[in-house]
Amino acid sequence: LLQLYAPLNFLGFVYREIKHSLADMERMFTLLHQHAEVRDEPGAQALHAAEAQVAFEHVDFGYDRNRQILHDVSFTIPAGRTLAVVGASGAGKSTLSRLMFRFYDAWSGRITINGQDLRQVTQESLRAHIGIVPQDTVLFNDTIYYNIAYGQPGATREEVIEAARSAHIYDFVMRLPDGFDTTVGERGLKLSGGEKQRVAIARTILKNPPILIFDEATSALDSRTEKAIQAELREISANRTTLVIAHRLSTVADADEIIVLDGGRVVERGTHRALLAAEGAYARLWALQLHEQRDDDASPLPDLP
Ligand code: ADP
Ligand code: MG
Repeated sequence: LLQLYAPLNFLGFVYREIKHSLADMERMFTLLHQHAEVRDEPGAQALHAAEAQVAFEHVDFGYDRNRQILHDVSFTIPAGRTLAVVGASGAGKSTLSRLMFRFYDAWSGRITINGQDLRQVTQESLRAHIGIVPQDTVLFNDTIYYNIAYGQPGATREEVIEAARSAHIYDFVMRLPDGFDTTVGERGLKLSGGEKQRVAIARTILKNPPILIFDEATSALDSRTEKAIQAELREISANRTTLVIAHRLSTVADADEIIVLDGGRVVERGTHRALLAAEGAYARLWALQLHEQRDDDASPLPDLP
């Protein structure tokens, strides 16, 4: 988040707005795009894609002209499949998700959904097609109900409850003194990391987008909660086009394809099996993390019953 805030100090109003409403990532994009250089093309069409193939084609990009971040990045996520991106912090992983949301435009190359250039569709319709579960879900100072319903304005109460059930947070909510009307967030009931991620998952289930982005969605959780949330993420990503950005490799082993990003370049790609066999960068990361994982499991901090 700090990386997002930093260049925004000059946008005083936006900055305060974000700070005060403790916006989540999608809301932030919505606010920011009003000020960003990204605009709808005249005559931009609304995107309609029940199933979505996402492709990055030779994408070069940097936030500043004098510092290129992504170099000739190409990949395709067939409709309904999962692509995982791994790599060190600063490699450019989150930048991919920002470009997919069209927070910025590529310097060169293009990003397409079903062959359609993102720059030729309206931003509103594009963003309606993408659900993000970020690392830290920031809740609004409002009821649990509001925080879930936000995913789909106009949803019925039954739909909100159904989404809560699917995200395995319904029983938890029903045990709260005011149930769905319990106020959460900074000034309300503080939820644990796992509970917040379940709210984000419920919100995303309600939104029902064909494209999902999980940006280190479980990396702030202890390993036991991480496993539970991962199972839920796997469930909602079935049959949806999914970009998984992961710090811990245990979350990406079953992806259809994995790319390793290093300094903004794709240095390896393949399945988990193939990459281990290749004994390259991925295999080294994997070996390294097996140790970390063991340390992690030795000190569990369960926050779920
Ligand atoms: P990752 O998600 O792999 O950790 P990011 O995609 O967030 O990496 O960042 C890639 C690089 O881009 C980093 O060097 C980061 O400092 C830089 N960066 C990220 N966001 C901005 C921004 N808004 N303005 C300028 N530089 C940025
Ligand atoms: Mg990141």
